[in-house]
Amino acid sequence: GRQDTAERTIFNMIISKEIPSEIVYEDDRCLVFKDINPVAPVHMLVIPKRREGLSQLRHSTQDHEYILGHLLRVAGEQGKAALGDNGFRVVINDGADAGQSVFHLHVHVIGGRELTWPPG
Ligand code: 5GP
Repeated sequence: GRQDTAERTIFNMIISKEIPSEIVYEDDRCLVFKDINPVAPVHMLVIPKRREGLSQLRHSTQDHEYILGHLLRVAGEQGKAALGDNGFRVVINDGADAGQSVFHLHVHVIGGRELTWPPG
C-alpha cells in the first residue's frame, strides 16, 4: 500500500533537522529522540537514519539484521542510562491494530512509571 512506499515521513525531517526534536543520542546509523507525545515520564524513539525499506518490522529481511541489532542495543543502552535499575519497556508497533502511525521503523523506549501488562 501507499504507506509502505511513501519515501518520506516526519522522521526524515527529524533526521535532517528540518524540524526540531530533543535528541538524546546520535551515531552514524541511528537517532534517539524524545517522543513529542510521551506516554510515560521517559519516552524515547530509536530510529534508523536510513529507512532502507524498513517502513514496518514486517518488511525486515536478513539484510536488516545488523541495523535491527544496533537499534535494540542502543535502546537497551539508552533505557539503562535514563532509568537505571528501575527498568523500562521496548516496543515496536507494526500496522493498524498496533496503532503504528509513522511508517519509518522505530523502537519505543518507555519508562519512569510502573507499566501495566498486557498493554491495552
Ligand atoms: P507509532 O504509533 O507509529 O508506533 O509511534 C509514532 C510515535 O511518533 C508516536 O508516539 C508519536 O507521538 C511520535 N511522533 C510523531 N510525530 C512526531 C514528531 O514530530 N516529533 C516527535 N518527537 N515525535 C513524534
